[in-house]
Amino acid sequence: MSKQRSLLKDRSTLLTMNPSSVSNTHIIGLLEFTSYSDRIIRIIRKHWHILWHVPGCTDFPLIDLRRTKSIKNILVHTEMIFTHSIVNTSPTDHYKCGRCSSCPFSLQIKEIYDENSNFRFTIRQFSTCQTEDVVYLIRCPCNLLYIGSTTRAVGVRTGEHHSRIRNAVMEAPLVEHFITHHHSETDLLFTVLWINQKKCEVRQDSECLLRQQETRLIYLFKSIYPGRLNSELDFNCFT
Ligand SMILES: [Zn+2]
Ligand SMILES: [Zn+2]
Repeated sequence: MSKQRSLLKDRSTLLTMNPSSVSNTHIIGLLEFTSYSDRIIRIIRKHWHILWHVPGCTDFPLIDLRRTKSIKNILVHTEMIFTHSIVNTSPTDHYKCGRCSSCPFSLQIKEIYDENSNFRFTIRQFSTCQTEDVVYLIRCPCNLLYIGSTTRAVGVRTGEHHSRIRNAVMEAPLVEHFITHHHSETDLLFTVLWINQKKCEVRQDSECLLRQQETRLIYLFKSIYPGRLNSELDFNCFT
């Protein structure tokens, strides 16, 4: 139909701009449609004379009222957002805390297998350098292991090991091994094996639980001197 109508008109008529298509010089104002819309428009109309002298504002604006957001718009997204990163909501191994000097020495591993003892241990608890009440593991460059425990933050405790190696305080097989085998303090890497999550009202009870788990793991990893880095097995914690 449109084509037929256009064929009835001459070319010059068709090329002349239609007055109705000339852009309107009115300002177009967008407002959300609410129960207050009429009052807002009345207020704008009442005070529009303030802007009359501004170029382009001679005429009252055309107000376009938009539909407000419905509950559906608020609650339901039209697009699902997918991210490629999968957030592990329940990590079960050791992580750097990101804010301490022990972070570079954190071993982030889920499982430890020791060839010397043929013992495999899976880490099942989440920890960082700041975690307290832990049994921790230290590994040297020759893959010898040391098991220790502390009620303080593990990063603080392993920092003390670093300090003793740096100052060559030869009081235990661990430091002695690092010095005699020319390992540097930065070769000392650590991770957390076990966290005492039982709330003990008496501090000694907490320390005793840690000692017991430490002793069990020293026994299972067979990490006792000579040839390994733990000095002794202490069974007093079981009595
Ligand atoms: Zn840290
Ligand atoms: Zn070594």
